[in-house]
Amino acid sequence: MGEGEGAIQNRVRLWLRSERAFGLNFVPVQSVGGLQRHDAIVQSNVASSPPQKMADDQRRATTTVTPPRFGQPSAPTSESSPAVEPPRNTAPLKPLVPMPSAEPFDAPTLPREDKARRLTALDNNEVRGCTKCRLCETRSNTVFGEGDVDSKIFFIGEGPGENEDLQGRPFVGRAGEMLDKWIAAMGLRRGDVFIANIVKCRPPGNRVPMPDEVATCTPYLERQLEIIRPKVIVTLGLPALKYMANDPKLAMGRSRGTWREWRGIRWMPTFHPAYVLRQYTEETRSAVWSDLQRVMKELGMSPPERAK
Ligand code: SF4
Repeated sequence: MGEGEGAIQNRVRLWLRSERAFGLNFVPVQSVGGLQRHDAIVQSNVASSPPQKMADDQRRATTTVTPPRFGQPSAPTSESSPAVEPPRNTAPLKPLVPMPSAEPFDAPTLPREDKARRLTALDNNEVRGCTKCRLCETRSNTVFGEGDVDSKIFFIGEGPGENEDLQGRPFVGRAGEMLDKWIAAMGLRRGDVFIANIVKCRPPGNRVPMPDEVATCTPYLERQLEIIRPKVIVTLGLPALKYMANDPKLAMGRSRGTWREWRGIRWMPTFHPAYVLRQYTEETRSAVWSDLQRVMKELGMSPPERAK
């Protein structure tokens, strides 16, 4: 053993001693690569412990721990590889960006009254007072979303802007008026659809929400979608597209107008109304109308006479 290795072992022993003083009784070590050395350090550190404790520590140290996927409970890997208790003074690390669950929702669809009750509870008990990310510091109001809880269409935008923040409602102001026109062109009223955003609080200066803010807030959106269970999702703009596809490299121009699927729900990406206001060309407006027509066809709807 070289002098450097001896020094490292001494430092690790000292560290383990201090950790044990705070209740850490073992070090979880992966069973691949470098097992012998780490194992030896752990074993020599517990040399004065009773034999049974040594056996327990060795079993823990040589068991590979697989972290649970986002949204899924952890489970024992097999009979011969029992679940490993985490150290008492450490918490499991959370990923910054959630791993999207690909499985379709499998719970039965709820009656309208249950949907309304659950959404109200989610808003009142969790979203309104939420302080889980930094966006709570600068918001005036949370913007939960609104519309028909039994709607077949769920529009998803990026995040509240200034007017939305002040009124606590999604898509008000000029972009909201544009979205209302699109909905009317489909032969519907705003109250016939559900509208929400990927984050519920306004990012300062209307900046794009940061990945950790999206990761923290989107479980609320997922629960809204799970409760409402629309037939079709329409994402408005690039941030919503990237989040739903879990692909930060996607471009709007190539992605819009193409059906995708999110947890068993058909999903159509299109432009954000604010973008269409900025690029108010025949081409952009036709692109949006073509996307909305695809949605109507999917739902067996025909546009009103004037829109035709
Ligand atoms: S953006 Fe979402 S997670 Fe962040 S404080 Fe608002 S409601 Fe909570």
